[in-house]
Formats: sequence, structure tokens, C-alpha cells
Amino acid sequence: MTASTDNKTSQSARRVGHWIGGITSDSATDYLSRTSPRTGHLVSEIALGGPEDVNRAVTAASAAAGAWESRRPIERGRLLTAVAQIIRNNADHLIALESSETGQTDVEVRSQIEGAAGFFEFYGGLVNAHNGEVIGLGADYHSYASRSPFGVVAIVTPWNAPLNQAARAVAPALATGNVVVVKPSEYTSSSTIELAKLASEAGLPDGVLNVVCGSGQDVGEALVRHPAVSKISFTGSLRTGRAIGRIAADRVVPCTLELGGKSANIVFADADLDLAASGSMVGFVGLAGQMCIAGSRILVQRSVYDEFLDKLVGVVSQVRPGIELSPIVTPAQFTHVQEYFHTATKEGAVARVGGRPASGESVAGGQFVEPTVYTDVNPDMRIMREEIFGPVTAVMPFDDEDHAIRLANDTEFGLYAGIWTTDVSRAHRVPRHLQAGTVTVNEYLMDHVETPFGGFKKSGIGREKGLEALHHYTQVKTVTIKL
Ligand code: NAD
Repeated sequence: MTASTDNKTSQSARRVGHWIGGITSDSATDYLSRTSPRTGHLVSEIALGGPEDVNRAVTAASAAAGAWESRRPIERGRLLTAVAQIIRNNADHLIALESSETGQTDVEVRSQIEGAAGFFEFYGGLVNAHNGEVIGLGADYHSYASRSPFGVVAIVTPWNAPLNQAARAVAPALATGNVVVVKPSEYTSSSTIELAKLASEAGLPDGVLNVVCGSGQDVGEALVRHPAVSKISFTGSLRTGRAIGRIAADRVVPCTLELGGKSANIVFADADLDLAASGSMVGFVGLAGQMCIAGSRILVQRSVYDEFLDKLVGVVSQVRPGIELSPIVTPAQFTHVQEYFHTATKEGAVARVGGRPASGESVAGGQFVEPTVYTDVNPDMRIMREEIFGPVTAVMPFDDEDHAIRLANDTEFGLYAGIWTTDVSRAHRVPRHLQAGTVTVNEYLMDHVETPFGGFKKSGIGREKGLEALHHYTQVKTVTIKL
């Protein structure tokens, strides 16, 4: 898989090595050629590591663990705040790196990079908010439960929002005194390597944050199996999550799983339909639908179904592939999304807009599909049950609140749900019944570092973000003294 030299190869492809113990480390084996999903040009050659590289990274992390854990938390917090600042200072550079591999628009990547800085800022300020508790046992005892880090945390991330997803797990892990080895997606590793370099420039000690690039089989699996790794944080597909969960169970190490979704976005008749149409559009075309939280099932109250559908089709038709709409990040995923177009047609769904690869000058050489809205769907169709991970949604009518809740919960996933309503009682009542880790009302896409995030059902185990994440990166130790 060395760099190809076809006529799309650019002379300026960068080489991306691992980051281990505070220095760049070349691949001992080979490099993966990474072409831009937007243009088809070669942009980077990413090291393909193996178990040896993983072992070096875990050894470097283990060597740094004691000193990092022993630091006064406020000092760790200061360093994390410095990392937030250095990310912001280098935002343009990080945006260029990230978008060269994801092809996403500047606006999309900028908000993810700002989000990444936000994670370090937030957890840097929280280092003393998680000290444990004193437990009352009467006059004869003094008892307390303190929070200890696990040691070496393995963080495995996907390709859709690489820097943001890495920061989401790295920041709380470091804040609580753990050391980290990250395995980014082999398709989009550059920005995570750059994050580690910048963190080092900001003063993070060598070995505290390491990154090993390479495939899931050669690096990801070796990392989660490594005997010195004592906590796993995985973000990615259900299939890989299951495989990693099995390894974690065998090894008896805790494992946070942030997996996929098939989220319902429910539009009630009393909603502001213009707002609902534009918010629902952003909810499935953002990052070209390559979001675990994409609103890929839009449920609309029957009395406003036609009116809402016209408005939705109107706003979706304005979205221009290659300009507002990003490409599909990997070649395999590009094929996968197109297969769903065939499946949808075969099953009898009707594409009101889209349903095919995009064409024209703005998408030349890239992996673009048209933003797509299907109607005439039923809950058993594959496009209503499976995560597509492309800018594709299906719209279906419902009769009343109970019907909407039944349809929304009719999925193996449970990551996210949206509601559009002007009835304040409904805005509180419906979320109680939705089987989803996050429910938003009157704005679909919300991304706040302060709010816990994670899945019900097969969307995952554990939580990232918010104060909640701190629990998942620490274990409780109880000390009781007989007085
Ligand atoms: P993926 O599961 O194919 O890969 C994710 C990561 O796991 C990559 O780094 C990959 O190299 C690694 N990996 C693959 N096989 C492995 C193995 N056997 N052992 C260890 N590591 C292995 O996922 P993807 O295609 O990169 O990302 C898309 C998926 O991620 C979607 O399902 C999406 O919903 C999900 N996702 C979830 C969240 C969330 O927070 N819940 C966020 C973003 C993406």
C-alpha cells in the first residue's frame, strides 16, 4: 500500500508518522496513500504501524504514568488549558490538515476544531471537580471514596470527525490523571498526530499522549489487547464495537463504546415548520450525513406531512454538492451509500430529491452524492433500519404522539432524537418516552461539551462529554480508618 504515482498524485503529499514518547516515529513497515475525497489527489502517506509500534507507545505511556498521576490536578488543568489555546492558535493549520483528508467544508471543520479546543478547556477547568466523597460511618471510623485513574487508556477513533472525536476522549482521560495511546482511523490520521505535537509544544510531558497510526487489525486490535492497557474508549461502528467489547470482556477491562445510530427526528403539527425543515435538513446533510447522530428518519404528523415535505424538499434542493455539501470520506463508504440508493428503489421508496451520485464541475474527481429525501417508506425497509452514514433521510407520517414514539423507538439503536413542537408540555413529555441518550427540542444538531453524550440500546455503553465522562475515566477506591 505504498504511495501510488498515478496522474492524480500531487508532489506535495505529506508523510505522517506515529507520535511516541514525544517524538515522531516513522513506519517500520509501510505507508497508506490517502487521496482527498474532494479532489482525488494524493494528500498524505500515513504510517501503517503494527504490534511493535503499539508496544513502544504503551511502554512510553506507562513510563510517564506515575509522574502524570502524581501531579497536582490544578497543574494538569493548566496544561490542558494551554492545549486548548494552542489548538485555537493553530486552527487554520488544523483545518487545512483535517479537511485535506475528510474533504469537509471549512465551516464544518472549523466548528469541530473549536469543539476540540473546548474539550481541553472544559476538562482543564474541571480537574478539581471530581475528588470523591467522605462517607459518614459514625464516630469510630473515617471513610472516604477517592477517584483513581486507570493508567494507560487506549482510545480508538473513526474517520468522520477525527480531531474532535480524539479530543473528546483524550481531554477527560488526561484530566483525571490517565496517560493515553490513540489509534486514529487510518484514513484521517494527520490532525490527531498534529494534536499530539501541539500538545507537546504546549508543555505536555513526553509519553503522556501517544498516537499510533495504522489499520484496525494491526494496530487497533494490538492496542486493545495490550496487557498494560487498563481502559478502552472506542468510537466507531457497531460491528467493530462488538469485537472490541468481546476483547474487553475477556480481559476484564472497562470499555466505553460510542457506536452508531438511526435517529428519529419528530415534527409535530404545532411546530414552526420552516424552522423544522431547515433544522432537519442540517441534521442529515451536515458532514454529508457522516454523523452518528444524523436524523435519518424524519417522522411528521400526518396533518402537516405534505406541507412539511414541500418545505424540506425545497431547502434540501438548495444544497449544492461540492459547495455546501461535503464528500463521502472513504471510497468504501462512497460505494456503500450508492448501494443504499439501489436498495431503496428496489424496496419501493421514492426519492423526492437526490438518490444518485452528484455530477458537475463542483464535484469533479470527488466522492459526492446528492442530498437525498425518500418518501413512501415503511419501518421494515433497510433504509429505515440501517445506518447509512450519507446525506440520506426518509420521511414518514404518524398519527399521534403515541404513534410517533412507537415509530421512533422501533430501532436497535438509541443514540439521539429530535423533536419539533411549540407545546411546552409535549417538549417535556415526549423525551421521557424516547429510548435515546440525547433528545433535542427545536434545534436538531446540538454539540455542547458540557452535556453528557452516549447511547441507549446498541448505540453504546458509557458516556463521553460533560461531568459524566470523568466517572468513566476513573475508578473508585474506598479507604476506611478505624479511629
Ligand atoms: P469503524 O468501526 O470501521 O472504525 C473505527 C476505528 O476502529 C478505526 O480507527 C478503525 O481502524 C478501528 N478498528 C477497526 N477494526 C478494529 C478492530 N478489529 N480492533 C480495533 N480497532 C479496529 O468505524 P468508522 O467506519 O471509522 O466510523 C463510522 C462509524 O462510527 C459509524 O457507525 C458511526 O455512527 C460511528 N460513530 C459514532 C460516534 C459516537 O459518538 N457514537 C461518533 C462518530 C462516529
